[in-house]
Amino acid sequence: MKKFALIALASMAVSFSSVAQESPLTQEMKDHAVKIGEAAYKSNLTKDLITSLTTEVGHRLAGTANDKKGREWAMRKMREMGFDRVWEEPVDFPLWHRGSASLEMTAPFEHDLHIVALGTSIGTPEGGLTAEVVQFDEYKDLVEAEPNSLDGKIAYVSLRMAKTGLKGYGYAGQARRMGSVAAAKAGASAIIIRSIGTDDNRTPHTGSMNYEDGVTKIPAAALSNPDADLLDNALKYGEPVTLKLEMSSHSHDPVVTYNVLGEITGSEDPEKAVLIGAHLDSWDLGTGALDDGTGVSIVMSAAKHILDGGKRPKRSVRVILFAAEEEGLIGAREYVRAHKEDHKDFDNILLGAEWDSGTGRIINFAPGVGPTSLSVAREIGYVLAPYGVATLMTNTAKGQSDMSLLGNAGMPAVNLGMEPTNYFDFHHTANDTLDKVDMDAITHNAAIYAMFSYMAADVDVDFTK
Ligand SMILES: [Zn+2]
Repeated sequence: MKKFALIALASMAVSFSSVAQESPLTQEMKDHAVKIGEAAYKSNLTKDLITSLTTEVGHRLAGTANDKKGREWAMRKMREMGFDRVWEEPVDFPLWHRGSASLEMTAPFEHDLHIVALGTSIGTPEGGLTAEVVQFDEYKDLVEAEPNSLDGKIAYVSLRMAKTGLKGYGYAGQARRMGSVAAAKAGASAIIIRSIGTDDNRTPHTGSMNYEDGVTKIPAAALSNPDADLLDNALKYGEPVTLKLEMSSHSHDPVVTYNVLGEITGSEDPEKAVLIGAHLDSWDLGTGALDDGTGVSIVMSAAKHILDGGKRPKRSVRVILFAAEEEGLIGAREYVRAHKEDHKDFDNILLGAEWDSGTGRIINFAPGVGPTSLSVAREIGYVLAPYGVATLMTNTAKGQSDMSLLGNAGMPAVNLGMEPTNYFDFHHTANDTLDKVDMDAITHNAAIYAMFSYMAADVDVDFTK
């Protein structure tokens, strides 16, 4: 009995080791990925790209002349770096003009308050609107406001974003994304929110907002954190507080912008591709360094490192720089539509990953692939372990930011998680500038992107399975 068990164990060991030897991720692939990564750590390319983008172009508000400059910059750089193919794909969207925005407290005290218009907001009537402000602690309280209870008033949501990274952002951000609809349903003539940000500067944070068909559109703006504190204090006196809001923001008929793509063409099956992405557009207040100049530089640099490695992966590595992410993932939505419905080549995407997380160092690798390819996805992750990247034992990644729309449409994905940073001190503000970028961290991130995307494009495995 004992002998039998030993024989069974021995034969299991043989079959396990033969399975391990047959892994489609060969030692040669891993060694080549490490060679690419080691070279990437020694390169200044990622740093040079983000410095060039923020200096030569600056902000890239979708549809503006700067947006066009940004696309021309990206295509020129990718061609200069020797990408095999560089092209654009059109995206329609309504151009938005920020215009001017001002807010005064007129009673019971007088102050000029620092605000910015939320992206895609309408403006006020000319000459502005003056109204009493009604405070809500958070978005869910505003949702409960009775119809007509805010007639002729300005709604104000005072919740301060918790310093808990994306979780805090997601929760507090509800007021920004949906507050205008809730406020308008209760009759408000405008909405002011405390900035969705973790700083204590008089630099308010812009960001996307939404209107709903059938609900009156009202102007929406964000107040800087210190100014929100001031308003909170004024409200504590229990007397009516009145504000005068004046904004000239407005939208136009649809214009065309473009997703920009660049490819390192695969040696055997070039139609199939690993997609590494970022968004090229930015808000217009800063220079779009953290959001998302870092991502643009990281993915362009990663592809160039693969090219410089001297050996093409079997399938292509495609860089995608999405358009009009900030206004609501518009470029990504169009990409899914065009490639699922028009070109019907969506299934050729092997795996996708985006960087839209500012300047933090990548510390984990989270796959979202089919059950039989999961072991290979994890093996790819294990190659990154010596570089401080842990492979998470989950298999739920759908892709981040723009790429989440592709992940939800069926694309296998990888999410790269980062160390905690002070990203939300600067996010969507005039302070989103190059000095906030940790150059060592983005160089590390480009090396990680280069290694995993090379392996994913070279290995013979279907990540949907
Ligand atoms: Zn972003």
